[in-house]
Amino acid sequence: MYDVIIIGAGPGGMTAGIYAARAGYKTMILETGAPGGQASTTETIENYPGFPGGVSGPELMMKFYEQTVSFGVEMDFQHVTSIEAEGNIKKVSAGDTTYEAQSIIIASGARPRVLGVKGEGKLRGKGVSYCATCDGFFFKDREVAVVGGGDTAIEEALYLTKICSKVTVIHRRGELRATKIVQDRALKNEKINFIWDSVVDGIIGENSLTALSLHNVKTQERELLKVDGVFIFVGYIPNSDYLPSSISLDQWGYVLADDHLQTNIPGVFTVGDIRQKNLRQVATAVGDGAAVITALDKYFADKGGES
Ligand code: NAP
Repeated sequence: MYDVIIIGAGPGGMTAGIYAARAGYKTMILETGAPGGQASTTETIENYPGFPGGVSGPELMMKFYEQTVSFGVEMDFQHVTSIEAEGNIKKVSAGDTTYEAQSIIIASGARPRVLGVKGEGKLRGKGVSYCATCDGFFFKDREVAVVGGGDTAIEEALYLTKICSKVTVIHRRGELRATKIVQDRALKNEKINFIWDSVVDGIIGENSLTALSLHNVKTQERELLKVDGVFIFVGYIPNSDYLPSSISLDQWGYVLADDHLQTNIPGVFTVGDIRQKNLRQVATAVGDGAAVITALDKYFADKGGES
């Protein structure tokens, strides 16, 4: 029996683990993949305070992990398939194991959205990628495309210019969504070429990607763009599929919480990118992870000091 089970070892989940363990709670973190979540697939994090000049995502997340386990937090690398959230004793099922805890913190984050076009699934890992840090090197001195106009797409396009000979950004509108400082860097970069008002409607290749089929949504013209790889950054989907219908989600599947980060079910909290909020960053996930333990204290105090 744990005091708290945290689902997900991203920055939010690991910070919650550090604060929980230091507060004396018996804490377990369950994580499907490697610790760090999406932050560990980010080449450089420039806006997490304390690192002038930036820090590599994997390196920062490895430090989070070392710090988390150093306080005695247990971590099991298991995929959570369901939870029983109601009542005083919560249950979390992962693999063949059912874990029990007095409280749960949902910190399972979000995953990259796919385009859903022909060829995307077949050529995933054969030219189609969702992580420039992971796969950029395979396209050294070759031509690639990036789909999307948000901060992720443009920052990753900038990163790819350090490896690839040419980067073509394909965006469905005529202006970028990315913040101005990031936009300015990309617009000035000679290795980046933009194709505006266009969507990818097919990804072509037999054993590896050879070209993208593009559709200009303004002129209705079509063209083939020959590239060796495509990096898709068109937003994220919350990892909330395993949650019971009793937990309130918004229309996109993000978990709703009150000001104390508690969901509609007492003793079930949420932090990080899976929570409905305005800004999804390492810094905001860390803030959630720290704040949630104050709410946990209050929950246990209200229950009558059972912990
Ligand atoms: P995002 O801001 O939601 O941008 C997604 C981009 O993909 C948009 O440009 C969108 O076009 C485009 N898009 C969505 N669906 C598409 C489709 N089916 N086909 C083609 N294009 C499509 O996502 P994000 O860039 O991953 O950023 C997520 C959050 O993290 C944001 O709040 C962002 O500011 C933040 N972030 C911050 C930093 C940083 O501060 N350093 C770095 C990375 C991310 P439209 O513009 O037309 O909607």
